[in-house]
Formats: sequence, structure tokens, C-alpha cells
Amino acid sequence: MKKQALSLVLAGLMAASLAGCGSSSSNTSTTSTSTTASTAATTTAATTAASTTTAAATTAASTAAEAESTTEAEVTTASTTAEAASEEATTEAKTTEATTEAKTTEAKTTEAVSEEAESEEVGSEEVESEEGSEAETFDLSASKYLSDGVLTVGLNATFPPFEYVGDGKDDFTAITANESNATGFDVAMMNEIGKRLGVDVEIEDMDFDGIIPALGTKIDVAATGMTITDERKEAVNFSDPYYDATQSVLVAADSKIANEDDLKAADAIGVQAGTTGETVAREINDSAVVSVKSFNQAVADLVNGKNDAVILDEVPAEAFEKNYEGKLKVLDGSDFNFDVEEYGIAMPKDDEVLLDAINSALADMKADGTYDELLEQYISNYQAE
Ligand code: GLN
Repeated sequence: MKKQALSLVLAGLMAASLAGCGSSSSNTSTTSTSTTASTAATTTAATTAASTTTAAATTAASTAAEAESTTEAEVTTASTTAEAASEEATTEAKTTEATTEAKTTEAKTTEAVSEEAESEEVGSEEVESEEGSEAETFDLSASKYLSDGVLTVGLNATFPPFEYVGDGKDDFTAITANESNATGFDVAMMNEIGKRLGVDVEIEDMDFDGIIPALGTKIDVAATGMTITDERKEAVNFSDPYYDATQSVLVAADSKIANEDDLKAADAIGVQAGTTGETVAREINDSAVVSVKSFNQAVADLVNGKNDAVILDEVPAEAFEKNYEGKLKVLDGSDFNFDVEEYGIAMPKDDEVLLDAINSALADMKADGTYDELLEQYISNYQAE
């Protein structure tokens, strides 16, 4: 209905330009139409002009501005005289044949214009879904954890540049509670997800090993550089992976530790409790593991000489290396055959709507470039504290 009306308006518009009185709106419709379409439109226009004493000219042109609601009737009952159009049109539409041909090709016009109309429609749908995605795509009232309009995010803010304590000056418009002024990539990502879902975001800074047990009670999701592991998957749902990582070894700048054998001979390997770094360290030298509640503590104990090494994710290790300028160095995980890990947002298993909503928002922000912008801002441009 809408598409056919558009093709008729196009025909009318051609009549308008033939008549020499096309309005400024006529150049919008015809330029991107295929050759077949404009030829057909011309023929149709000619027929229209020749077989009626009145041409669709002015009315059609102005109707084009309201193309969405235009109907065939509106175009064909246009009653403005267009003498010039009649003259030109007569030459083309003298015979019945010409009229028949016009009718046949009009069908083609409809097709061609339909294509155009479809692509326009897709465009407008995209805009609509950007503006109103929360209403259309997600029925958050069906989500056990989001139906209250608040997304509570657990994290441990000793994991720069993903989460650490900032100055509280970030422009996190969806975040309504953030006691420790946590900032970093994960915080920015959850702020963006909250914006897209139309919910408030509250940040809970807590011990890493308390995060999974708190899911579903104190917090709705965890966004804390958490590696997706089979063991954790038994307890929680993970979003689609959002970042590739690997463990690494952080040592003093003048340390002799360089490989796994050196770690086997070490006295104290600092880790944060409950992390994949702890698992790796225990596999290498269980008796040397010093498990503490925060990476800030483990790294401070490395700088003050209590620890010989700390095993943690490579990007945070590099951030600590920056923070303790010149005092530390990062040994690449590939020298230790550490596996590639993937971070995911963790959430309770009993809310598929929550999982779908988070994944959709994540996919949207990846697709439109927002995700990459946040990577650039919070990870590539991380400044030492
Ligand atoms: N990626 C590691 C893990 O999941 C460390 C995460 C963290 O300490 N925030 O265990």
C-alpha cells in the first residue's frame, strides 16, 4: 500500500517536471531510481497527462512531500491544468500501445521503487530501534533481576584498567550509585549497557572471591574481567565473550625470574583469591602461593619485596607496571604457556531475559563502534595513577 502509493507519486512527480513546474521536492525522489523506473515513470506520466485534461503536476508535487500517506486517488484526482505537459505528453502517448506499455512498465516501476522504499524503511527502522530498543526488543518486566529498573553490578576495583578506583569525575550517566568511585573499561561498558537497556546501574565494589556467591542476591551481574571457565559456568551464566586475555607474571624490575622453573623455585607467589591466576600459580608451585583479597595488596607486597612474583592477567599487569614506574616488569604469558582466556559478564542462571538483554546491548555497542571507543579510551589510553 505504502510502496504503491510512492510509485504513483513518482509518476505524478515526473508529470510535474514535464510540465515545467516541478517543485523542489521532485529532485529527491527521482535521482536514485533505476533507469527502468524513470523511463516507466515518464511513460506513465505522459499517459496520465495525455489522457486527462488535467495533469497531476502541482498537486502531485506537493503530495510528494506527504508521500507516506498519498493514495492513488489523491494523485489521479489532481486537478491542476498543465498545458505544457499535455503537449509533450501527447507525442508519447498517442496510441493505445503506448498506454498499454506504460501500464506494463508501471509494474516495473513499482518494483524498482519498492526496492528504494524498502531500503528507506530499513534505515528508519534502525533509527527507531536505536531510540526505542529497550521498549521493543526487551521486555524487562519479564526479567527476574531487571524488572525493578536497576542493574546492580559487582566488581573488584583493583584490576586496572578494567576496574579501579578513580576520581569520580567520569560521565557515567546511567550509574546512580558507585561508592568507591570505580572506573575503568568494565564500568564504562556497564554504564553503556544500562543506558541501552534503560535501567539505572549501581556499582558494588567487593572482594573478588565473594562476587560469584553474591550473584542473584546482592548483585545482578558481575563485570570484573572475569574469565569464562567451565567450573564457573556450572554456577553462573556468562554473556558472550567480550575480551581476550592471558595470565602473565609480574616481577620486580631487577628480578631473575624468567620462566616456569624459576617460579617453581620461588618462595612467595602473590595472587588474588579466587582468580584464574591463583589456579595457575597453584599448578606451578602450590606451596609458594600467597593468596590475598586484592591485587593492590599482592602487588604492593611485590614492590616491598615480600612476594617474588604476582600472577595476574596481562593487561592489568601492564597497568601496575605503569603505576609503579620503573619498579616492575611484566613477563609475557607465552613464555609460560599460559592459555588464552576470555572475559564474560557473569549473571545468575535463572534469568534468560537478563542474559539476552545483556548480549543484545553488547552486540549493539560492538556493531556501532561504541565498544571500540571505550577500549580506546579506557584501555589504550590508560594513564598511570
Ligand atoms: N580474569 C581473572 C579471573 O577471572 C581475574 C579477574 C579479576 O581478578 N578481576 O579470575
